[in-house]
Amino acid sequence: DRASRSGAGSSGLRVSYEFFPPKTEAMEETLWKSIERLAPLSPDFVSVTYGAGGSTRERTHATVSRILSETALKPAAHLTCVGATRAEVDAVVDEYAEAGVRHIVALRGDPVEGIGSVYRPHPEGYSHAADLVEAIRRRRPEIEVSVSAYVERHPESADWQTELDNLKRKVDAGASRAITQFFFDNDLYMAFLDRVAAAGISIPIVPGIVPVLNFTQTAKFAQKAGATVPAWFAARFEGLEDDAATRQLVAAAVCAEQVFDLVDRGVGDFHFYTMNRADLVYAVCHLLGMRPEKPVQSTEAAA
Ligand code: FAD
Repeated sequence: DRASRSGAGSSGLRVSYEFFPPKTEAMEETLWKSIERLAPLSPDFVSVTYGAGGSTRERTHATVSRILSETALKPAAHLTCVGATRAEVDAVVDEYAEAGVRHIVALRGDPVEGIGSVYRPHPEGYSHAADLVEAIRRRRPEIEVSVSAYVERHPESADWQTELDNLKRKVDAGASRAITQFFFDNDLYMAFLDRVAAAGISIPIVPGIVPVLNFTQTAKFAQKAGATVPAWFAARFEGLEDDAATRQLVAAAVCAEQVFDLVDRGVGDFHFYTMNRADLVYAVCHLLGMRPEKPVQSTEAAA
């Protein structure tokens, strides 16, 4: 079976979890409950996003710092080029380096006016992710850099050559891992891996997995991000709009189905977009054979 095939006692898989910086105290509490629940599964790293246009600069930093000081987890801070001068971005990189952060997810970011508007680099800023990767690696070689990848192409890339040339530039600038935009059709991911290999790119391309907590919202976001929602996938959630409990069960089953299929195809790394919620991701990781570092004693065993 999957668990025993991939290693005795452990799943043999590597996972990472993505969180976003909380806006309110209540959201902060939800985030920390989620981090505390997922931490014992010993993720490779946990990443914290950077709000559109750099709007969460302080909050991202605060969240990353708290992870560093209160847990044994390795945080990766997302950072974008949008709306900031090179000096401002460099200052953020320095702050991270001095705080002990050793991993940055370097991105271009979306236009401040929102996805779909024309992107214009800040006149004194880094223009694309590759420039940011190069700057971080030159400035702080101790910091590992991950970048984005798009199994269905970034919406602004006219063709595959453009897309792969861009990924190659990011790798040549020093990126050591790419994390993909989420996708629902595993065939697209496998086809992307073939294209990446044919382009001579050999860094790990970690699939980004999104559990569908709310199908309507996910479908909207997928459309903006250029991710296809196959009809068979949408059908899984049909008629469940007002049935949160069933939706939750279906979401876990659907996510496990996607991840198991990838494991069967030889994939060993997964990046989960947690949306700061632990339950679904925890359940899927459990199904993958992952167990907490210190096993929680069940009520039955304790009795
Ligand atoms: P790039 O890799 O720079 O590419 C963007 C586009 O520009 C591509 O079409 C590329 O072909 C083109 N391009 C690159 N270089 C050039 C050039 N020199 N001339 C012309 N065109 C060029 N957004 C946030 O705001 N905060 C986050 O925390 C965040 N985290 C993310 C995490 C992951 C794993 C992913 C996949 C995305 C994330 N995003 C985040 C979204 C991301 O910012 C957007 O998708 C954005 O539109 C592109 O960023 P990028 O780093 O992929 O850009």
